[in-house]
Amino acid sequence: MPGYILSLDEGTTSARAALYDREGRRVAMEANPIECHYPRAGWVEQGALGIWEQQLDAARRTLQRAGVAARDVAAIGITNQRETTVVWDRATGEPVAPAIVWQCRRTAAYCQELAGRAGAAITAKTGLVVDAYFSASKIRWILDHVPGANERARAGDLLFGNIDTWLIWKLTGGASHVTDATNASRTMLMNIGTGEWDSELLALFDIPRAILPRIAPSSAVAGMAAASHLGAEIPIAGIAGDQQAALFGQACFRPGLSKNTYGTGCFALLHTGAHQPVSANKLLATRAAQTGAQAQYAIEGAVFIAGAAVQWLRDGLGLLSTAAESEAVALSVPGSEGVYLVPAFTGLGAPHWDGHARGLISGLTRGATRAHIVRAALESIAYQTRELVEAMEADSGQELTELRVDGGATANQFLMQFQADLLGKPIVRPTDIETTALGAAYLAGLATGFWSGAAELEQFWRAERVFEPTMTATTRESLFDGWKDAVRRCRG
Ligand code: ADP
Repeated sequence: MPGYILSLDEGTTSARAALYDREGRRVAMEANPIECHYPRAGWVEQGALGIWEQQLDAARRTLQRAGVAARDVAAIGITNQRETTVVWDRATGEPVAPAIVWQCRRTAAYCQELAGRAGAAITAKTGLVVDAYFSASKIRWILDHVPGANERARAGDLLFGNIDTWLIWKLTGGASHVTDATNASRTMLMNIGTGEWDSELLALFDIPRAILPRIAPSSAVAGMAAASHLGAEIPIAGIAGDQQAALFGQACFRPGLSKNTYGTGCFALLHTGAHQPVSANKLLATRAAQTGAQAQYAIEGAVFIAGAAVQWLRDGLGLLSTAAESEAVALSVPGSEGVYLVPAFTGLGAPHWDGHARGLISGLTRGATRAHIVRAALESIAYQTRELVEAMEADSGQELTELRVDGGATANQFLMQFQADLLGKPIVRPTDIETTALGAAYLAGLATGFWSGAAELEQFWRAERVFEPTMTATTRESLFDGWKDAVRRCRG
């Protein structure tokens, strides 16, 4: 019996592969960077072929690094940046346009008009707020702007996929065109209750059914990766969007458990079990990964720019040489001294949903330094998370007792402590913060009998560090009031 599960984790900034043993321990992980292009203000694109090549290379290098042969891999799990949209030619496998990344705002005006016309009906069916973030308007854009694409799509010559679907199609040599409900629930074309593509939504966006993938279970064999790619045929047995995978990797299997991921954006998810949530606070209802017959749901708050603000300080302003350096720079001053940075570079997500808001730095005095700006950028991640947690508590009517965290930016101790202070709640960081990759591995391992069930996986989860709040309530609330004021000023 093979001894490993391979997880492919295609994020916004990198394509990673990780290998896990029977005890759920990561034995190797390799990553390749993924480049973003910003051809116009508010537009974000990536090369779909580049994503595939980098992902495959990361997988090959991971096996090499671990000294594990492909025949010793029981299954592959796939997790991915969600919503990002690829349309390709069924015959040649060539994308017809660059992938439109989830952050891209090019369809904001279209979505605003649509929201006025059909917003309530779309939200009732999908659990989503009508916004350029989701895939449907991105597909519409490609079909409208690539010459001949509408006709070719109708003729069945084009295929659509999010990154999970694209990678599986490539891995299986075009044999499997599938997605799962967690990804499909982010397209704005799936009825969240039935888990099926919705005819009325397809008509509304004028998207032909022929281009859509089959919606398969998150934890089941969805296809076979061709032997030519990794050296042996391997079943692809787990699929989940990155945030739902992280929820699963954090062992949040039961209603009431929640996590927040600090990556490019911030994504807080609260598992609601078989109960389909309806948000009164502009959060999203979404499908959670399911391993049995019963559909699973989560309530989600999405913030578009979190760690990406740190990237901007590094690459846009040249204030940092590495993201990790932000911690020491922030700690070099005792406070941000009234400086706030609202990173509304692509508008504001939950709970504001203002596609026209733009970023700002406020509260500058002659005494403000690079350190204050860097600190304000890190603090903005925590402020935005507090907005999500407050909305989540209001929606669920329950107070979170702690927050499980993961993602690249949780390496930042200053950010974690400030987050605990600002929420007045403990922040719990697990031993493995790559919970996205881990969650996809779990789904693949459960589907193939590599692991026996949730009870076994729950034993793998361990806290590495708990950050306890130390700030007084008065300080916390006065800082947060300052944030709310800065947000008011950046609204579109
Ligand atoms: P994704 O999966 O969205 O690509 P990751 O979970 O890999 O993201 O996290 C990368 C993000 O975290 C980047 O935006 C980076 O700027 C940020 N980041 C990484 N390390 C740190 C750090 N030590 N302090 C602050 N931000 C960090």
